[in-house]
Amino acid sequence: MNSQHRGIGMTSQRTRERLIKRLEEQGIRNATVLDAIRQTPRHIFVDEALASRAYEDTALPIGYSQTISQPFIVARMTEALVNTGPLHKVLEVGTGSGYQAAVLSRFATTLYTVERIEPLLAQARRRFMELRIRNIRSHHSDGNWGWPEHEPYDGIIVTAAPVDIPQSLLTQLQIGGRLVMPVGQSGVQNLLLITRTETGFEKEVLNQVSFVPMLGGTVETF
Ligand code: SAH
Repeated sequence: MNSQHRGIGMTSQRTRERLIKRLEEQGIRNATVLDAIRQTPRHIFVDEALASRAYEDTALPIGYSQTISQPFIVARMTEALVNTGPLHKVLEVGTGSGYQAAVLSRFATTLYTVERIEPLLAQARRRFMELRIRNIRSHHSDGNWGWPEHEPYDGIIVTAAPVDIPQSLLTQLQIGGRLVMPVGQSGVQNLLLITRTETGFEKEVLNQVSFVPMLGGTVETF
């Protein structure tokens, strides 16, 4: 069976609408962000055995001790970037399943994404091809260093939590560019929105969150 058809019924339009309604109730207001979530088939980004849970508002395991982020967090982070200015070039650190990249690619001219675990990246690339998403460039590397070849970015989104903000990410931001990322020890992280101004950086705390830790180095296979 073609993977786009797997889980039909469990992943019906009604189930997806229920998720959208929940996100609205939780405070996601931007209609274009809600539409992007509505139109991105999250069940394609999880293992077949979990497809029936793809439209629940929870993080789910994707292997290698990693998770696909909770839809509310994906919506919140996307909204934080979309609401604050234009997005031509956007960098994501932590491709994981590829879901956040797929959602965000709808708002960017080019979405660059880096992942340190090679098999996860390979799987995400297959999903982008299957869904015919053509504006995502991906790279196997340690995102602590950003992706210097394509800087400066209008937006950077980090989907794993470092203890401190990596300096490289700040320097790869355009003036007026925004960085959305969780920062802190596991279990007690703040989701930050950092804006680069002419003279420095402005910081705002958006939410309390719990992300997997941002690690260093790269992994080929497990
Ligand atoms: N955006 C993903 C979330 C995956 S979880 C999604 O929508 O599914 C976070 C991901 O960040 C994991 O895949 C993990 O391997 C990756 N990661 C952690 N530290 C990293 C680093 N230093 N560089 C690149 N990726 C990293």
